[in-house]
Amino acid sequence: MRFQSTRGQATELGFDDVLLTGLARDGGLYLPKSWPKRSIDEWRKMRCLSYAQLAAAVTQPFFAGSTVESDVSGVMDAAYKPFDHPAVAPMIQLDSNTWLLELFHGPTLAFKDYALQVVGHLFDRVLSAKNERITIVGATSGDTGSAAIAACAGRDAVDIIILHPKGRVSEVQRRQMTTVDEANVHNVAIDGTFDDCQALVKAMFNDQAFRDDIHLSAVNSINWARIMAQTVYYASAALSLGGPDRPVAFAVPTGNFGNVFAGYCAARMGLPVASFQVGSNRNDILTRYFETGAMTIEGVEPSLSPAMDIQVSSNFERLLFEAYGRDGAAVKRLMDGLWQSGSYTVEDSARDTIASQFRGSRLDDEGTKAVIRSTYKDVGQLIDPHTAVGVHAAQSADLDPSVPKVVMATAHPAKFPDAVEAATGVRPDLPPALANLYDLEERCDELPNDLAKVQAYVRAHSRV
Ligand SMILES: *Cc1c(COP(=O)(O)O)cnc(C)c1O
Repeated sequence: MRFQSTRGQATELGFDDVLLTGLARDGGLYLPKSWPKRSIDEWRKMRCLSYAQLAAAVTQPFFAGSTVESDVSGVMDAAYKPFDHPAVAPMIQLDSNTWLLELFHGPTLAFKDYALQVVGHLFDRVLSAKNERITIVGATSGDTGSAAIAACAGRDAVDIIILHPKGRVSEVQRRQMTTVDEANVHNVAIDGTFDDCQALVKAMFNDQAFRDDIHLSAVNSINWARIMAQTVYYASAALSLGGPDRPVAFAVPTGNFGNVFAGYCAARMGLPVASFQVGSNRNDILTRYFETGAMTIEGVEPSLSPAMDIQVSSNFERLLFEAYGRDGAAVKRLMDGLWQSGSYTVEDSARDTIASQFRGSRLDDEGTKAVIRSTYKDVGQLIDPHTAVGVHAAQSADLDPSVPKVVMATAHPAKFPDAVEAATGVRPDLPPALANLYDLEERCDELPNDLAKVQAYVRAHSRV
């Protein structure tokens, strides 16, 4: 399979290079050149598969020509082994036609594990085939850092350095990063904000000599391999609710638009989907786009669902590329406009294409607490604040009542215990595998917000 950039100028690459490159050289994001479409009968045959087998069956075509092609099922078996539920992504029923898809059974209790565990194994395989090493540097405000560390810990060809803003991530999130006892994992608390951490990472990526010296790589959600792995749980949920013989609707709490875009990919691969309900918190650039057709940057304010506190949803660019008939030059013009003037407007035909499948909704912090409270009261289920935004998106959907709705539960409630307790009076317990999180020793270095010092640290800890 070959992959092309959404901005039309970077060279096409195969799977292995797309995995290691992340962002395309022209600033765009990679997408497969064509969608491997499955017939209704092919989807039906996948109903009997385990989650790992389904993952291999769904993603196999993307690996054509990759060094991993002959053992995709080996990768998937290994990736989903550490999950704490035999179904990997089980569902519970919320009301007569709404289900909660629990995407928090991986090592760090958020849905990012479902993709990053796969990516960790893929790095291992591809790097050892190429006899190369990489250094991963990332900034995190919470969930991504811990999921990336869990995916890369102990891997021979990878060193991982994660920057977090000192004193500004929750204790659970910090401990999930700093208690990992592996020589290739390095946590740095930066004396600054999340934006400072991100600016440091960006500056390191812009330093071409430094970047080449240490084989710098990233694991953020613009990596195609993450999107690919996330298509699987859309198929898994639909197949257990009568798909592909009836369409299912998905409600997705959204930040970078990566998760919901994976659902779109599953639909492009022939999975019948009724609609995608896109939920935002008070940082509602997407909801405003759905209302007006204009994507306009505003400031970011902290909310109860911090993983969705974003200024721009970077993966929306992939949907634009599709809606503009894969016109890379048109996408480049829109994205240039966004960085120059802080805004772009989607042309009518593309806007209609998007509106035929996606609807937006928003929920502020008060509403989030109200949904957590009512879900607990009505069905006895504790949900996290991100999931609450998804539940609201499902509730506000204007759909035929016979269409089953699946809400993505993107984090375990115990990851955000303060918000859950404030709403319900009940403090959620960590699952058994993490019950000793508060007793483990933490390992973390501290650095000032100073590029030269951070770069020296990264060099010293990279084994490339
Ligand atoms: C990352 C994250 C999200 C947002 O996912 P996107 O793919 O960026 O839309 C939602 N909920 C939780 C718990 C997350 O960690």
